[in-house]
Amino acid sequence: MLGKKYKGNKQNKIPFNGTKKEYHTQCPFCSVQCKMKLVEYETSDQKKYEVIPVNNPASEGRLCIKGRNAHQHVMAKDRITQPLLKVNHKFVPISWEKALTIIKSEFTKIKQEEGNHALGVYGGGSLTNEEAYLLGKFARVALQTKHIDYNGRFCMAAASSAAQKAFGMDRGLTNGLNEILHADCIILVGTNLAECQPTLTPYFSKAKQRGAFIINIDPRETETTALANLHLKIKPGTDAALANGILKIIVDHELVNHQFIQERTSGYEFLREHLASIQLDQIEDITGISIDQIKQVALKFGKAQTGMIFTARGVEQQIDGTQAVRNFINLLLVTGKIGRNGCGYGAITGQGNGQGGREHGQKADQLPGFRSIENPEHRSYIAKVWNIDEKTLPGKGVSAYEMMEKVHQGEITGLFVMGSNPVVSNPNANFVEEGLKKLKFLVVVDMFLSETGRMADLILPTSSYLENEGTMTNLEGRVTLRRATKNPPRGVKHDWEILCEIARVLGKEKFFSFTSPEDIFNELRVASRGGKADYYGITYDRLTQSGGLYWPCPSIDDSGKARLFEESFASIDGKAHITPVLNEDKKEKTSDEFPLYLTTGRILKHYLTGVQTRRSPQLNSDNNESFLEIHPQTAEEFHIKDGAWVKLESRRGSATVRSKLTNRIRKDTVFVPIHWGDNQSINRVTSQALDPYSKIPGFKSCAVNIIPIDDPM
Ligand code: SF4
Repeated sequence: MLGKKYKGNKQNKIPFNGTKKEYHTQCPFCSVQCKMKLVEYETSDQKKYEVIPVNNPASEGRLCIKGRNAHQHVMAKDRITQPLLKVNHKFVPISWEKALTIIKSEFTKIKQEEGNHALGVYGGGSLTNEEAYLLGKFARVALQTKHIDYNGRFCMAAASSAAQKAFGMDRGLTNGLNEILHADCIILVGTNLAECQPTLTPYFSKAKQRGAFIINIDPRETETTALANLHLKIKPGTDAALANGILKIIVDHELVNHQFIQERTSGYEFLREHLASIQLDQIEDITGISIDQIKQVALKFGKAQTGMIFTARGVEQQIDGTQAVRNFINLLLVTGKIGRNGCGYGAITGQGNGQGGREHGQKADQLPGFRSIENPEHRSYIAKVWNIDEKTLPGKGVSAYEMMEKVHQGEITGLFVMGSNPVVSNPNANFVEEGLKKLKFLVVVDMFLSETGRMADLILPTSSYLENEGTMTNLEGRVTLRRATKNPPRGVKHDWEILCEIARVLGKEKFFSFTSPEDIFNELRVASRGGKADYYGITYDRLTQSGGLYWPCPSIDDSGKARLFEESFASIDGKAHITPVLNEDKKEKTSDEFPLYLTTGRILKHYLTGVQTRRSPQLNSDNNESFLEIHPQTAEEFHIKDGAWVKLESRRGSATVRSKLTNRIRKDTVFVPIHWGDNQSINRVTSQALDPYSKIPGFKSCAVNIIPIDDPM
């Protein structure tokens, strides 16, 4: 299904004489945000569904298998449709009124006894912009806690941090997707977009047909590396060193763009000095990539007239993620390949609203519009928009995993989780689970009883993508409007309604008197006005008419900006900042006890922790358990047969999965997907070490041992 236009699942077009309903929506999963129409055919004894892709600029009328089956989880029989309270270790349904009374009582008690910051809020990158914005306001105004962060911290935080430092601004793609067709050389680092964002694949295959040279850097062979002209099967976690090797050859061969460097950047001299001290044979040793291949990449990219670089979780989810991404941005800057057609950078965001979710205050250090919570002017502006005294606005909190450490230490004793499943998505998941058990009060807002939900004291049922309206910002920075065309089941509320109702019972109603998502969006527009992610000129009407608008869009007659940095960068001096990046390899080392590297990732049919996709029969049918990808020679060495149960162990914990022998992976590395919980949760194994700049965990490399076992229990 790579690149083919999906015309709808015609097998569902049964002879029919019942009722027909149409729901216009967009996919709830990845950051492309493909548009679609779901048609429901209902007769007296059955319902059938047809999914029809709808043309839009990003997906160009394509849908992948996840989008085609997204509705199945919405219809799942185990959806929660009433608040559930845990009584004697069992959940019992209660009314919304009672649920709100309990929340008021528990939150108030914690605030009175332990202070406001004993409460924490944990959000998600799949929430709409309106809800991500409202959640930030809810934490700071309704609960008055500094502790809010979200699962996007695990997604593209390193790329965000690198782009902020290099360009002064973070938008996933610096160019529209259509410019990929104009790039002569494309470097893909640590991305398996053919499985994670499948409808993007045709952009790259068409560029290749046009003559582009595609280089893919990944420890595994994947559907995406199959697209490349050259695949560098790198040792996990050594991308920064590889970029140093490429940069050194570019500089030594005088392939730099001196005019661009002089007029548009700062810091090049430091980089040149640093590269002079680097030996290519040392880079070969560190990365496992031959000098010849490094040279091939450098000459191809350096000599190309146009070029783009895309990074994703493989390079970003490392404890040097920010610096590794910066080194690939250095490559663009020294060759002058940014700010013009077919030249730019892209972080291929994973979550549906990974981009918008990181712009409007869901992060510990952030206020709406990419404002800083530590900047006095920014604080004062937002305090005015929110009509509060700036002195009551809390300061900076801590990142998502650090929040879990505070839970463990007993500093945070009440937690509110919305749109996230931290028990499965956090690294060192056993530690996280132990911490959550210590909480005095855990509220989880979800459609299903997720692994985190099972631990909650109170669960609040929320609506699905078909039922909940709001804007989403795709990986390009294009804001789209997802209309709600289906009613939620009785007893279910939207996330934004839940936040407003809790704020009301906490006595903060006047700050949360919203009656619709559009109402919230209109406040978000004003709050973002003048910030780097300026949405002021974007309205629901304009989104309906246009099908999507790029930010920044500062006024209602502005058409938004697809290509950034044509004339200047967003830093204070208007220049992009080049920085030397050391060949440090701080990732966990293998040893006799833990002799292999583990890397993790996604597969085509599942999304994040699988709470939704595992409930879709079509998606789950032949992918209903996790697996370990292992090279046949490594398997032989460890006495592991194909399809056998294997226990993976690290210094933190273990997981049990079935083996899958393949030549597609390096002999020193094994791969396990991230979509399962309990004893298949690979994050019980991964390391809690964080990148110091972005606080993203180093999910993508740690040291493990593997043991064949007879019984998975
Ligand atoms: Fe499109 Fe991504 Fe959904 Fe697939 S998962 S249909 S690529 S938005």
